[in-house]
Amino acid sequence: MVSQLEAFFLFPRFELLNQVESKGIRLTAQRRALIETIQEATTHLDAAGLLKLARERDPGINRATVYRTIELLKNLGMIDELDLMHLDGEKHYYEVRTEQNHLHLACFGCGKIIEFATPAFESLKQEIAAKNDFEIQVIRLEVGGYCIACAAKREKHLHEQHKPCPRG
Ligand SMILES: [Zn+2]
Ligand SMILES: [Zn+2]
Repeated sequence: MVSQLEAFFLFPRFELLNQVESKGIRLTAQRRALIETIQEATTHLDAAGLLKLARERDPGINRATVYRTIELLKNLGMIDELDLMHLDGEKHYYEVRTEQNHLHLACFGCGKIIEFATPAFESLKQEIAAKNDFEIQVIRLEVGGYCIACAAKREKHLHEQHKPCPRG
């Protein structure tokens, strides 16, 4: 069971509030507080995690505000919804869209999320679009496995299991 999806955001994020308001969308104080929470989040958060953090800014925020605001930002293409390999059940995680497409590596051991960008991902996107005559709006790539620390632990564990029995 993964308790926390730890991650460090590496890539510059869109400025949500400015962008939403530049589209002429009026925001209530609660929606603003929630959008600020999403903007300032330091990990990939699910709706429940966002609600908890947002309530620290404005205790009046409820689940409906969270879901409606997430829906709005998703439709505007300002946030992305991630599964993160379903590390913690069926939750979805949200992150502010970045200038550069990146992929996510999820550790099955400790739940760490590693963000990674490479020109190869950009060229894969271009190839997919060109060869299928497809205008890509969203591209998502998630990789599951073990981080270096968890891989070392597993290695040690397997090794211990296969040690010959001393009395054997
Ligand atoms: Zn790990
Ligand atoms: Zn990310």
